[in-house]
Amino acid sequence: MHQVMEWNEDVSDAVKRELGSHQVCLMNVLGSPGAGKTSTIVELIARLRDKYRIGVIEGDITGTIDAETIDKLGLPVVQLDTDGACHIEAMSIQHILPHFNLDELDVLMVENIGNLVCPAEFNIGESFRLALLSIPEGDDKVEKYPLIFSTSDALALNKYDLKEYFGFDDARVERNAKAANPDISVFRVSSRTGEGLDELTAWVDGKIAAALGRA
Ligand code: MG
Ligand code: ZN
Repeated sequence: MHQVMEWNEDVSDAVKRELGSHQVCLMNVLGSPGAGKTSTIVELIARLRDKYRIGVIEGDITGTIDAETIDKLGLPVVQLDTDGACHIEAMSIQHILPHFNLDELDVLMVENIGNLVCPAEFNIGESFRLALLSIPEGDDKVEKYPLIFSTSDALALNKYDLKEYFGFDDARVERNAKAANPDISVFRVSSRTGEGLDELTAWVDGKIAAALGRA
């Protein structure tokens, strides 16, 4: 994976080892503000919580709105307040891990800061990355922000039910995403209508199972 900061890479590896020693895998969820990161995480939790013990790290520049949403689900959630920083670094994850009982978890879902740029530059000990792009953001984003798409394992085109209203060219996005990253899986989803969520969940399930050696 592309890595800009060597020091961050070392800490990312340490986080991954620590999680691995407790049989926990980490999913890094990236996307713009309003792309639907929180609601997608909520939908994935609803479909996977009977199978895996899930914890959540909610990254936000400030405030606890998303963390409160997850907290209502009755799962362990820790708010990572970046105090203005526009991305999460591996060291922040390392500092937050002691707040969880890792022996009682299988999966940590991390909602990164809403931003298509620098969150993609920092590995945070993840086993895999899920990028979200919502239809209202426009179909030119892969060309404008290639790194987030070239480093993610899957791309979910969220709010897909709005496609007709925005004239969103999903074939263009998929073509560009696969040009940047031939291995990327592309899903068309809507957390409002439920479209595509079962397919996305099956993919996430497969990645978790593989990371935990249960595939
Ligand atoms: Mg959110
Ligand atoms: Zn940043």
